Amino acid sequence: MQTDLGTLRADLAARQAELAAQEGAAATALAAAEEAAAVRAREQVAQSASAAEAAQRERDTIAAQLDAARREVEAAAARVAEAAGREQTANEAAAAAAAELRAELERVRRECSDLRAELQKQKDAAVCVICMVNPARMLMVPCGHVCACEGCVTDMRDYARAHPHTPHHDAGAAAAGGDPQLECPVCRGAVQQTVKAFFGS
Ligand SMILES: [Zn+2]
Ligand SMILES: [Zn+2]
Repeated sequence: MQTDLGTLRADLAARQAELAAQEGAAATALAAAEEAAAVRAREQVAQSASAAEAAQRERDTIAAQLDAARREVEAAAARVAEAAGREQTANEAAAAAAAELRAELERVRRECSDLRAELQKQKDAAVCVICMVNPARMLMVPCGHVCACEGCVTDMRDYARAHPHTPHHDAGAAAAGGDPQLECPVCRGAVQQTVKAFFGS
């Protein structure tokens, strides 16, 4: 009986020691598990942070690419605007040159018109120096003056025939009905012949 009690006590002590060892092992395992859990949690946090950073970096990259694309589009738009401006400038220059040419043409036309008017005025101004009324149409040969009208030349001829002492009187020519008895009313030269002149058409 004594022995049994001793054995029981020893057995109990052994079980108590075993239990204590089990408790210690459990505590160690728990601590290790807690530590591992904490490490995993820290790793997950770190991974999350890393993932967030990566996402942020990706967003930054995309934003930078968008900025670059936007700048490219702006540059292209600027080039198009510049080209359009150059084209407009070229068009304006062409229009200005055309306007200048038109103005020059108009100026030349006006000049021609003025010259024609002046010519007509000079023709109109060529009135007979004797009667100062009718247009001068008779060309004196050989001096070339166109200075008297037909009527006045006839009068001059009649007068010269009636007055034999006129400066260029030529009795023979007068007798033959010729002209070398007339004198040009402009240059006083002998007139051998008169010709009716026609101007223009
Ligand atoms: Zn006349
Ligand atoms: Zn003359």
